[in-house]
Order: sequence, then structure tokens, then C-alpha cells
Amino acid sequence: MSASPSVTAKTAEAYDVVVVGAGFAGMYMLHRLRGQGMTARVFEQGSGVGGTWYWNRYPGARCDVESMQYSYSFSEELQQEWDWSERYAPQPEILKYANHVADRFNLRSDIQFDTRVETAAFDEATSLWSVTTSDGKTVSAKFVVLATGCLSNARKPDIKGLDRFEGKVYHTGHWPHEEVDFTGLRVGVIGTGSSGIQSVPVIAEQASHLTVFQRTAQFSIPARNAGLTDEERNWFRTNYPEVRRFAREEAKNGIYTEVPDRGALDDGDNERRDRYEARWQRGGLTFMSVYNNLALDKAANDTAANFVRGKIAEIVKDSDTAKRLTPASYPIGTKRICIDTDYFATFNRPNVTLVDIKAHPIEEITQTAVRSGGEEYELDALVLATGFDAMTGSVARIDIRGRDGRTLNDKWSAGPRTYLGLMSAGFPNLFVITGPGSPSVLSNMIVSIEQHVDWITDCLSYMRDNGLDTMEAATDAEDKWVAHVNEVAYTTLFPQADSWYMGANVPGKPRIFMPYIGGVGPYRQICNDVAARGYEGFVMEGAKAARKSVAS
Ligand code: NAP
Repeated sequence: MSASPSVTAKTAEAYDVVVVGAGFAGMYMLHRLRGQGMTARVFEQGSGVGGTWYWNRYPGARCDVESMQYSYSFSEELQQEWDWSERYAPQPEILKYANHVADRFNLRSDIQFDTRVETAAFDEATSLWSVTTSDGKTVSAKFVVLATGCLSNARKPDIKGLDRFEGKVYHTGHWPHEEVDFTGLRVGVIGTGSSGIQSVPVIAEQASHLTVFQRTAQFSIPARNAGLTDEERNWFRTNYPEVRRFAREEAKNGIYTEVPDRGALDDGDNERRDRYEARWQRGGLTFMSVYNNLALDKAANDTAANFVRGKIAEIVKDSDTAKRLTPASYPIGTKRICIDTDYFATFNRPNVTLVDIKAHPIEEITQTAVRSGGEEYELDALVLATGFDAMTGSVARIDIRGRDGRTLNDKWSAGPRTYLGLMSAGFPNLFVITGPGSPSVLSNMIVSIEQHVDWITDCLSYMRDNGLDTMEAATDAEDKWVAHVNEVAYTTLFPQADSWYMGANVPGKPRIFMPYIGGVGPYRQICNDVAARGYEGFVMEGAKAARKSVAS
């Protein structure tokens, strides 16, 4: 339970805005708020900036959106001057970039590290948020912005005996800061999502033996990572105005690439195969943009899925292993597609074993082994690549209380409810960056982060200029938006998969397709139109109205 906010708010340090998290969203939010002359305090649980890139230090971690696009666009000097070394930047380089941004824009002085926000309570009498932190302090703020990230709450699986294991246990999403050396060790990896698929080939090179425990086989496309040439960097730098415009306005997923002009069934077998082959050779996430109906039409989707299945069969020499690595239970792309370097080929190594834990679920973990299908797999170290309580997990860890003391966890108990993914009715002056109900994880995150931060900043300036104190999603607007998000999701194949988009990876989590799949361009337009119509669907009140409601 939080302390009475009306008491604490009067004595606490006061800010215009408290920002939770100093990843890419929190850093840019702080920068924009300062530009508007607003006071802000950022609380960050890590000891440094970078969010996702601060925590996910596992072997092989790198971004799967190309570096020249996975970067801030708000500063022309920054995007012209920063040198990315590779097509897909490795984690240390992205973290270096985050630190560079923090230094360049002098952000650290307003960021308090090693501090978790524990509670946030809205006081209806003062219209202020009272925020308590893990260092035992309380601050007050007119606004709270949750920049907590969508994939930042690493999830330890509930496997019998896990805590008994005597070897080292690591989670990819919470990797130690010191170097981890698997040389000569028998290592087990549980999980074959993006993190597992990136780390397996690297760990296999170090370990004496690697056992991969796979519950669901994944579709993965080669990254074809390579050093960036000066010519490539210069192309982007010269063309940034168009690249960024396209990513914001036209690309569905915030990535500059060709727009498909036809569906998969519009081409004959040979032509279609050639197109898939060309994209496979080029590598990367845009494999799913060869045709415009791969996410919509199962028959079209099957052509892409079968192409990738054929590739797995070609690459993996042992036919039984190839079969187990071949995804069969969901359409390609409906679980987040993975991008790899030598993932499937790694199973040709003599020191790598694949264990199908769908067919033979893990029975228990002993002091020294993982037991599945009656077999004991002796291990010295265990890597959990088991993912995150995505989109809502980090928000849920904060005790957030809005009007009438109602918690956000209570309100979202049957699934997250937001208007535009930005605000939730009953929680005035509380914003979420890339929250559920916005394109978020379906897009190049930095494009969506910048859009939300800019929108929120414009909104706060508007409120200040118009003498408004509170802003809140109207319930009917929120209901309509939630219905729309759901409706659009069900025009696609995405709900057919047991994915973290659906909350399906967390036992007991409501099965709701959380992000908005309408595309970043249309979504941006909707947000802009809402703002242009005086923040339609939001209830805004000024000092006079607030005083009136307090008095009445
Ligand atoms: P994930 O995609 O959720 O994968 C988790 C894996 O662990 C899945 O194979 C899952 O199996 C398995 N698993 C979960 N709980 C388990 C249990 N109790 N027992 C056995 N297996 C279990 O997590 P992730 O790989 O960390 O990736 C999450 C997201 O982060 C990605 O989809 C991507 O958006 C982002 N990411 C991006 C990059 C990049 O940019 N390159 C890298 C890493 C992550 P099931 O499939 O059966 O649930």
C-alpha cells in the first residue's frame, strides 16, 4: 500500500514529470522535456542508460533492425556523425551509442540510477502523482511517463528443481556484466526465441557440449551481417530525410524497405521461389515483406513457411534433427520472426544436441542435470533464454494507483486497456511509451519511441499553454480503441500463434493480442488527427474545473 499521496506530495521534491526508465524512450523523453523548459526526474533501476541494451548482454546479442535505421533521428548531427560498424550492431556498440547520447545531450544529471520506482499514486485533490522509489524517497510530479520498455521483465520459467541446480544459471535478459566464459563447459540453453537463436551458435563455439532444449521450433532467417562500408553509411546519411520519412509514414513496421506490390499467390511457383531466394540471400527481417499478404492469408503464408522449411532441411544434415527444428504449429511471422547467424548449421556440430521438450517436457532439474524423456542431460551451466513478461510485465511491477485508489493491475487484470496505447482511463496524467495498443514491438522500436515522445511532449506543451492540469483517456474512446486493436489483429494470422504478443508465454496471462497491428504510418496519422482535434477522446481539465470538482 502506498502512503497517503496528499500528505507526501506537499513535502516531496516536485517535478513536472517523473520518467520511469532510462532506455531509448526515457532518454529521449528527458531530452524533449528539457527542451520545453519542464523539470523532470528519470529513475532507472540499472546502473547505466540503455534499457534493453543494458540488460541483454548475452553472447551474440545484436539488434535485428539494421543499425543505420535502429538509431535516433531527432538530431541531424547525431545521425550524421555516429559511425555504426556493422549492418546489425552488436549489443556493446548499441550500449556505447546510448551512453554517447546520454553524454552528448548531458542527460545524466537528471537520471537517478540504481533506483526502482515502486509505487505511483494519483491524488485527486491536488492532481499530483506521488512516486516512491527503492531508496525510500517520495517525489511528486504533475505527470508520470512510463518508459519501462516492452521486453524488460525477464521471466524465469517455473521448472521443478531449477533452484536446486548447482551450476551457474543465467538469463539472457539479465546477463552479468562481467565476462562469462563457457570454455570447456557442458552448457544447456532452454528457449529458442530470438535470444536463444542468437546465443546458441556463439555458445556452441565455446562449450565442450551444448544441449538446446526446444519447446517450439522457430522460423529464422539469416542476418547476413557484415561490416558497413563507407559507401553504405554515406548512402544512408545522404538519404536520411527520405529514409526516415518513409519509416515513419509509409512502412508498416517503421523500416525503410521496398513495398511489396503483390500477394504470394499472384506469382507462379518459380518466380515466387526466386523472390524468396533473393530475400533469403539478402537476409534480415524484411523477408516477410516479399509479398503483401503473408500476414493475412494462410495459403500465401504457407508458401513462405514452406520455403524456410526447405532451407532448414537443406542446412541441417541429420534429417531427424532437421525435422525437430522445423516449425509446424503456427504461420510464419506470427511468432516474432528470428534473425540468425548460423543457427541451423550449428546443429551440424558434433558438440551440439537438440532436445525436443514439447515431445518430452522437462521433468525436473537436478543438482547437475536437466531431465527430460527419462534422460539426464548433465550440465555445468544453464542459460535461460525464456523471454519476458512482454509489454505489461514491467508496468505491472509498479504499484500504480489512479482515481479512487484503483490499481492499474486490477484494471488490466483481463488484459491491458488503453486509448492509443498512450493512456488508460482512470489514470490521469500517466503516459506509457510504446504501450499495449500501439504498434510498439511490431515496429522498429526507435521509430515508435520517437513518435510517442514527440506526441506526449506536444501534448504537455498544449496543456501548459492552455492552462490545463489533467488529461485522461475517456472510457468510451478507450473502449472503441481496444475493440479496434482487437478487430484489426483478428484480420491477420497473428492470433493463431501461442506468442508473447498474445501473452501466451506467461501461464495465466490473459490471451489478448497486445500491440496495434494497423501499421506505424496509419497509427501516427490517427494520433496526429486526435491531437489536431483538440485531443479528441481525452478529457482535459484546467485549474478552474479541477477546483470546482474538488469543492463539489
Ligand atoms: P521469446 O521469444 O519469448 O522466446 C522464449 C523461448 O523460451 C521460446 O522458445 C519459448 O518456447 C521458451 N520457453 C519459455 N518458457 C519456457 C518454459 N517454461 N519451458 C521451456 N521453454 C520455455 O524470448 P526471447 O528470445 O528473449 O525474445 C523476445 C523478444 O525480444 C523477441 O521476440 C524480439 O522481439 C526481442 N529480441 C530481439 C532481438 C534482436 O533484436 N535481435 C534479440 C533478442 C530478443 P515457446 O515458443 O514454446 O513459448
